[in-house]
Amino acid sequence: MYTEDDLLPISALQHLAFCERQWALIHVEGAWAENRLTAEGRVLHDHPHEPETEVRGDIRIARGLQLRSLELGLVGKADVVEFHRVEQGGIPLEDTPGLWQPFIVEYKRGHPKIGHEDEVQLCAQVLCLEEMLGISISSAAFFYGEPRRRYELALDNALRQETEQLISRLHQLTAVGQTPQAEYSPKCKSCSLIDVCLPGTTSGPKSARTYLIKSIIQAEETVS
Ligand code: SF4
Repeated sequence: MYTEDDLLPISALQHLAFCERQWALIHVEGAWAENRLTAEGRVLHDHPHEPETEVRGDIRIARGLQLRSLELGLVGKADVVEFHRVEQGGIPLEDTPGLWQPFIVEYKRGHPKIGHEDEVQLCAQVLCLEEMLGISISSAAFFYGEPRRRYELALDNALRQETEQLISRLHQLTAVGQTPQAEYSPKCKSCSLIDVCLPGTTSGPKSARTYLIKSIIQAEETVS
C-alpha cells in the first residue's frame, strides 16, 4: 500500500509508455513543450474536465471525477464516468434508486494511436475506479477527435498486467529520478519534446561529440 505522499499522476503512464526519456524530461526535469498535438488535446479536454453531472435516461454522467488508488499509488481524474442502470452487478448511487455500472470515457485528440499509451492510461483509470468502488469493470471507451466517435476498449488480463507492470516501472524510475539517454526512433517526429530532447545530438554515448565534429566540418566546408 502506498501513502498519499507517494501517489503519482496517472497521466505520467502515457508519457512513460511512449518514451522513458520523455517521461523523465516532463516529470523529473519539469520540461514541457506545447506543440500542436498537445494544444489540441488540451482544448479537447477542456469541456469534459468541467466538473458536472448530467442525467440522460438510464445513464448518469459525472465529469472530472477524481481517481485514486493506494494499492497502485496513483492519482488522477476521469474525463467522463457514465453510470449505466443495470438489473444486477452494479453499485447503488446516493439519492438514486437502482444499481449502476460505471463506464469511463476518455477524450483524446486525433486518431486512435498504434501504440499502447492510451490503452494503459485508460486501464489505469479503470483499476483506480475498481478499487474506489469495489466493483469489476470489464470495458471503457475513448472518444477521439478525428473522427469524432467512440471506441470501446476491453480490459482483458493482458492489458491489466501490462498496465500494472508499467505502474511498477513508474514508481521505480521515480525513486531513481534520473533521465535516460535519448534513443532516436520514428516516434521522435511526433514527440512534443523533440526540441528539448534533441535525440539527434544526445542519443548514444558518443553522438553529441560526433554531432559537434560533423557541425564543425560542415561549417568549415561552407566557409571554404
Ligand atoms: S524526442 Fe524521441 S527520445 Fe526524445 S523524448 Fe521524444 S520520443 Fe523520447
